Amino acid sequence: MKKRDATTPRQAPLNLPAEEFRRVGHALVDRLAEFFISLPERPVTRGESPVTTRTHLGSAALPATGMAADELLAEATQLVCDQSLHNGHPRFWGYITSSAAPIGALGDLLAAAVNPNVGAWQLAPIASEIEGQTVRWIAEMIGYPTDCGGLMVSGGNAANFVGFLAARKAKADWDLRRAGLYGEPRRLALYASKETHTWLQKIADLAGIGTDAIRWVDTNRVQQMEPSHLEELIAGDRKAGHLPFLVVAGAGTVSTGAVDPLAEIAAIARQHEIWFHVDGAYGAPAAVLPEWAEAFRGLEQADSIALDPHKWLYSPLEAGCALVRDPQRLRDAFSFRPAYYEFEEAEAEAGANYYEYGPQNSRGFRALKVWLALRQVGRDGYVQMIRDDIALARRLHAAVEAHPELEAGTQHLSITTFRYVPPELRRSAGEANATLNELNRALVTRLQERGEVFVSNAVIDDRYLLRACIVNFRTTRRDIDALPDIVAREGRALHAQLRPRE
Ligand SMILES: *Cc1c(COP(=O)(O)O)cnc(C)c1O
Repeated sequence: MKKRDATTPRQAPLNLPAEEFRRVGHALVDRLAEFFISLPERPVTRGESPVTTRTHLGSAALPATGMAADELLAEATQLVCDQSLHNGHPRFWGYITSSAAPIGALGDLLAAAVNPNVGAWQLAPIASEIEGQTVRWIAEMIGYPTDCGGLMVSGGNAANFVGFLAARKAKADWDLRRAGLYGEPRRLALYASKETHTWLQKIADLAGIGTDAIRWVDTNRVQQMEPSHLEELIAGDRKAGHLPFLVVAGAGTVSTGAVDPLAEIAAIARQHEIWFHVDGAYGAPAAVLPEWAEAFRGLEQADSIALDPHKWLYSPLEAGCALVRDPQRLRDAFSFRPAYYEFEEAEAEAGANYYEYGPQNSRGFRALKVWLALRQVGRDGYVQMIRDDIALARRLHAAVEAHPELEAGTQHLSITTFRYVPPELRRSAGEANATLNELNRALVTRLQERGEVFVSNAVIDDRYLLRACIVNFRTTRRDIDALPDIVAREGRALHAQLRPRE
């Protein structure tokens, strides 16, 4: 064995010498370029069971020794590319997961290679500034004041949590941080439409307020919050001695993409001194379109907004963004200054220490991939892509309306819902609703397993509907035009299978 002294270079097993990094990195990028080319030819998903999926990994114990990086990356690339559900596929329209911008993948590589810790400015000088610029640009894009506070978080749930917690701190007029909810006999109350995403129950639970504190506001026939019912509920709580503190409006609800009457809700919130939060996780980027300015009027009055770059800004996961009108509100809710952190932030020119603005301490450089995409295509690029997605969703709605075996449901933003109705049930669709629900539920499963197209579902007025959400810059008209006949073909086959024999 060679004798080691202080001058022998350290041989750490994880280090990749620069030449090897270059070689395996280039090979990986080459394979990924092929993967992008191959996407339209691949199934959207294999639809395999967990048990089958596990067989690709085997059950070996943790390896005691390692293997060569090039061989390992070649194998892992094939495994991940072949065994994944591809939300980057042009025919993926399930849930709200976008096709991710390729520049975002390169951005994540760059971010991970330099690896700044964006918890404190001193540890991440340029990354912190890029995050600040990203937040300002997102605000500017949707017409929100650019001197707002904000930060990148993991996604829509986390961004909404940040708004919720800032609201709770701002509206509790006792020492909430020290005494918690025990510091006050009055009960907190909050308001949201029935179409709100389940992040709300999660944070009501986690924050110790409890889900009973949520007052569910009725929606109208086009899935929007009813402001008159909101007022009634607030009045009831005031009378009962509770403390209304938060109203949550949707700017693109998760099921149907409905945009609540934001300006009306803002006025009610202001009148009652309630924090006005907008969940725009999915829909807020559409506010960049001039033709949608009227629908989003009132967004600019929000005390806080959640927006997911990993949805309609086409960023790779994970990227959420929380915006808060008054930056001090974030510090009020999240800043503790331990003795082991002596990061100064006094004057306005000082850099932001992001650990004081949100729940995380150490933080990755999530902003980079978003910032790169914003710069690669600019505002005009986003206007074009978002507008095209909406046009495709409307085209789909028109096609299902015209199709003899399909029934159109809702159409808001880039979400279209519809269902399969066998011709003999068409007249009696009302009475046959239970049968149709069962049939369409099975149809969603069948479509998802086949991997030819991918849609998810929505339940609206007790009707189980197929739901296509287009946040996908790879989708073409031809892809959309193929969907109605595929659904009808599979619906017919399934109906023949399920129908009781005569
Ligand atoms: C997707 C979504 C969420 C949750 O966002 P995640 O990024 O999945 O955490 C919350 N609200 C709305 C309206 C959404 O569309």
